Amino acid sequence: MDHLKFVIPASEAESVAQSLGLPSVLHLLPTLVQPAQSLARPPISKFPVGAVGLGSDGRVFIGVNLEFPGLPLNQSVHAEQFLCNNLAVHGCPRLIALAVSAAPCGHCRQFFQELRDSSSLQILITSDHPNQNFSKSPLPFKPLPEFLTNPFGPCDLLDKESPLLLEPHSNGLSFDTSRKHANLCNGYSKESELDGNFKNLSNGFNGELEESEALLRIEALEAANKSHAPYSGCPSGVALMDPEGKVYRGSYIESAAYNPSLGPVQAALAAYIAWGGAGYERIVAAALVEREGAKVSHEDTARLLFKRVSPKCEFRVYHCSSVENGCKKSSE
Ligand SMILES: [Zn+2]
Repeated sequence: MDHLKFVIPASEAESVAQSLGLPSVLHLLPTLVQPAQSLARPPISKFPVGAVGLGSDGRVFIGVNLEFPGLPLNQSVHAEQFLCNNLAVHGCPRLIALAVSAAPCGHCRQFFQELRDSSSLQILITSDHPNQNFSKSPLPFKPLPEFLTNPFGPCDLLDKESPLLLEPHSNGLSFDTSRKHANLCNGYSKESELDGNFKNLSNGFNGELEESEALLRIEALEAANKSHAPYSGCPSGVALMDPEGKVYRGSYIESAAYNPSLGPVQAALAAYIAWGGAGYERIVAAALVEREGAKVSHEDTARLLFKRVSPKCEFRVYHCSSVENGCKKSSE
């Protein structure tokens, strides 16, 4: 492999393992940890973390840590969160095992609890075995419960039937089509202001503005509908657009313990990188969708994040409705 990608197809992973003389794709994971670290973006800590995971469909996924100068540290994305998000945006239903460059922090051990059968997740910390030859069995994988004993997780708060992270979600959110511009709630109340604002989309972006705006809005709604937010009941999603018009989606991921949750902007930025997006400053437009009046809102945080990571990005917020228990919650 000349250039490490964030997702390696199953057939390619198998042939690379074979060409390296490895007994299985599982043995490939630790050998890719160091190259994965080179993809990390930690300008504050300068401590790159690489996580390499095997999905149940045979694909190999990469996760790296992201840090954002000028913002609180808790806005960072950990490599293990990036990894789970990477499986989610690529539609992989299960994470089997991962190799990671440093011991997962407490938040990440907790974050993994959102996966179905998390106790069977196998973890190998490469820095614990500096002289190990990872080309031979047995590999020093350990199951998640060895890293987090007596866990608190989804089973303490949710029904067994509730979908967990990486399982299909359908949050039943939609836009109220009877309201023409009312869903635009980015501080613009008059159409004239709105029109002026459209003309100021100036991040090197000269496409069909209204079409692009509609596309981003729909993509952000789709991301919100896939959001894993069973604890607050406040799903949300973000869609980003690059100058070529390519769209990247991220869904908010909640943790049963709240604080390790991954915000929708972080999820979208991680997806942006995983799908080959370059510098954040190239993001020309972004949309956030959430329910109006939601107990958990990302609007203000998202504004701060975009102001720092892509100051010229045109950011809009849209509120949606949801049908819940037969009663329509509107954004009025
Ligand atoms: Zn962590």
